[in-house]
Amino acid sequence: MSNSNVTVCVRFRPLSHKERKANDKVCFKKLDSESFVFKDERDEDVIFSFDKVFYDDAEQSDVYNFLAVPIVADAVNGINGTIISYGQTGAGKTYSMEGPSILHCNELKTGLVQRVVNGLFECLRTSEDITTWTVKLSMVEIYLEKVRDLLDLSKDNLQIKESKSQGIFIYGATEISIMNSSDALERLSHGSTADDKVRAGKIVLVDLAGSEKVEKTGAEGRVLDEAKTINKSLSALGNVINALTTAKPNHVPYRDSKLTRILQDALFIITLYRYPSRTKLIKTLPKLIPNEVDSVKKPTCY
Ligand code: ADP
Ligand code: MG
Repeated sequence: MSNSNVTVCVRFRPLSHKERKANDKVCFKKLDSESFVFKDERDEDVIFSFDKVFYDDAEQSDVYNFLAVPIVADAVNGINGTIISYGQTGAGKTYSMEGPSILHCNELKTGLVQRVVNGLFECLRTSEDITTWTVKLSMVEIYLEKVRDLLDLSKDNLQIKESKSQGIFIYGATEISIMNSSDALERLSHGSTADDKVRAGKIVLVDLAGSEKVEKTGAEGRVLDEAKTINKSLSALGNVINALTTAKPNHVPYRDSKLTRILQDALFIITLYRYPSRTKLIKTLPKLIPNEVDSVKKPTCY
C-alpha cells in the first residue's frame, strides 16, 4: 500500500489483434515493477518511475488490489477518495474501469467499478464498529462543461453545490440506494455534523476523455468545442494536482472546471489526512498531465 496521498500508476495494455497483424511493436522496455524505459524525442532511453507499473500481463485484480483497496478501506472510515484513469483514446481507460462490460463479463475481467462496489460492501459487512450503513450511487457525465445525469437523461445541466454536511455534491443528481436506507445517513443528510459516530466517505471513479488533442485545423463546430473543453478540464485537473503537491498552496484552482469542482473534496480531504511524499509525483505528473495537452507523437519502438 502506498503511503503517499496520491498514487500514480501506469498500465500497459496488450497489443490488440489489429496491432499484432500490422506487426506493431511495443515501445517500452520493462525494468521492474516500478520503472520502465522509453525513448524520448532524441531517441535516448529515459527511465520513468511510478508507484507501480502494470505490464500487459497484469490482471484486473492486481490493479484493484494495489490502487483501490486502500481507497475503499478509507471510504468506510469517512475519508474520500478518487480514482482517475488518464490516457489517450484506446489506451485502456474504460477497460480498467469497467472491464469489457459493466454487467456481463467474467470474473477475471471485471473492472474497478464493480470491484470497488463489492469491496465496499465486504468492508461494511466485516467491519466491527459499523452497524448501519447506506451506499448511494450517482452517475454523471461532464460534456461541454455541463453535468448530465446518466441515471436520468432529462437532467442535463446539474449544478455543483457545497454544504457543511455533504461537502461538494451535484445538486439534484439521481441517487440510487444500493442498500436499505439507514438512520445514520438520514441524519447526516439533514445537516447534523456534530455526531461523530456518523461517517460519510465518497469514492469518485473517473473515466476521463481521451487525452489527445483534436487537431484544431481539422476540427470544427461541436468537435472543436469538445476538444477545447476537454483540454480545458484536463489542464484544470493538472493545475489542481500541481497546486496540491506544492508545499503550501495558496490557491488551488478547483473552480476552473466542472471536473475539478466535483473532485474538490475528494482530492482535498485525502491531502489533509495522508500527508504526501511528493518527490515521485512531481517528477512524473507533468509528463502524465501536461498543462498543454500535446498532440500524440508516434514513439520509437524497441
Ligand atoms: P479507452 O477507454 O482508453 O479509449 P478502452 O478501454 O476502450 O480504451 O480500450 C481499447 C481496447 O483495448 C478495447 O477493445 C479493450 O477491450 C482493449 N483493452 C484495453 N485494456 C486491455 C487489457 N488490459 N487487456 C485486454 N484488452 C484491453
Ligand atoms: Mg473509454
